[in-house]
Amino acid sequence: MNLVIYWFRTDLRLHDNPSLQKACQNADCLLPVFIHSTDDYRSTPWGFERKGLHRRRFLDASLNDLAQQLNGLGSQLYCYEGNPVDILTTLSNWLGAKAIYCEEIEAPYESKEVQSLQSCGIDVQTHWQSSMLDLGDLPFEPKNIPDVFTAFRKLIERKGLRFTSPIEAIETLPPLPKLDIDGIFASSFKDGDQSLLFDGGETAALNHLYQYLTKRLPDSYKKTRNELSRFDSSSKFSPWLALGCISARKIAHELHLYEEEFGANDGTYWLWFELLWRDYFRFIAIKYGVKLFHESGLGAKSALTFEQQSFSKWISGTTGEALIDAGMHELASTGFLSNRMRQIVASYWIYTMRGNWQAGAAWFESQLIDYDVYSNQGNWLYIAGHGTDPRGGRAFNIAKQVQEYDPNGEYRRRWASLI
Ligand SMILES: Cc1cc2nc3c(=O)[nH]c(=O)nc-3n(C[C@H](O)[C@H](O)[C@H](O)COP(=O)(O)OP(=O)(O)OC[C@H]3O[C@@H](n4cnc5c(N)ncnc54)[C@H](O)[C@@H]3O)c2cc1C
Repeated sequence: MNLVIYWFRTDLRLHDNPSLQKACQNADCLLPVFIHSTDDYRSTPWGFERKGLHRRRFLDASLNDLAQQLNGLGSQLYCYEGNPVDILTTLSNWLGAKAIYCEEIEAPYESKEVQSLQSCGIDVQTHWQSSMLDLGDLPFEPKNIPDVFTAFRKLIERKGLRFTSPIEAIETLPPLPKLDIDGIFASSFKDGDQSLLFDGGETAALNHLYQYLTKRLPDSYKKTRNELSRFDSSSKFSPWLALGCISARKIAHELHLYEEEFGANDGTYWLWFELLWRDYFRFIAIKYGVKLFHESGLGAKSALTFEQQSFSKWISGTTGEALIDAGMHELASTGFLSNRMRQIVASYWIYTMRGNWQAGAAWFESQLIDYDVYSNQGNWLYIAGHGTDPRGGRAFNIAKQVQEYDPNGEYRRRWASLI
């Protein structure tokens, strides 16, 4: 009897989940597990928790949806809270599990979790599946990815790569083990509150994708993507992508079908282009690993200072600069911010307030419902000039940004205070 544990991480879905599919193929019975890591609730060095309220709500709603889908297939989602390595080791030993299957995440904490399990003698089968393009299809080894995005994109386009086809949704699951699982730990699954703007989970993610396409929004994407606040101005795929409620491959595949039906245009191309940025930061993380998490990143050594008073002003939106304050209020109120506003507030923190970019990145990690380790780290490094920006960092001129993106003050008035 092959008993397998499936450890859901940031792949909370049944469609296009090759790792889950492999687990099912190799299991006589399968235990689906999610673990709320206590590490997520510990404080950062800057004094706030790593996973703030908006993120927790969005995650709870997404887990709720996953749990319902598993129930529909006669299974169940077991949610635990604690140290993932301790919990999985105990579960594995108790159940006599043959293996643990999970997606591969190339980030320091997450890789260490897998290594620790393996060093306890557990067979952990990881599978890389969070990018739009498969690693094996790239025209170079991940360790040889060009540092500059444009050079990377050109190689991808020269090879004619668009996306890797998604696989079908899982429709049957092996049964649960017939053992007293509840006797090991208290399994907790709470029905979470919904986030303000976004409904969590795979069901909502797929509905959102089809609505976005039905409304023909890709056609206007290139023109509207830099707007500061209108919901339809950009795709808003990111929260669901971040938890893996939808895969990038599924989005790219549906976008391709859309192009076949309605024709390709600069909007559809640009949407793919942005998804390629997402892949790029993933592959850069594979290339450079833990180096990206050092203060100096890929740049020269720097001794960053941290000043609590100015940080408090920045995060609470009391800097006195109306556009920045509006952005920080929006972020704290909703857990979301447009790409343009992310760039503006990050640049202001780094270059005007002379702040520590790592503290800024940590604040985004705590607040953003679409927090994604690769995209957040990659973008912060890029703006701070410690990443792969050929221009060595991005200092934005606030007056110019105001003139271009909020000339009538609508955005500043809308977010003059928290809601
Ligand atoms: C300082 C900073 C921090 C960021 N942190 C995150 C983060 O934690 N999680 C996250 O998903 N994105 C992050 N981004 C990237 C980007 O801002 C968001 O992906 C985007 O705003 C999400 O909105 P959307 O889904 O409507 O994007 P769209 O404009 O509709 O783009 C479609 C998709 O392409 C991808 N994408 C777009 N822009 C980028 C980019 N610059 N880098 C990587 N992928 C991109 C996203 O998956 C997005 O959902 C960050 C950007 C900055 C400047």
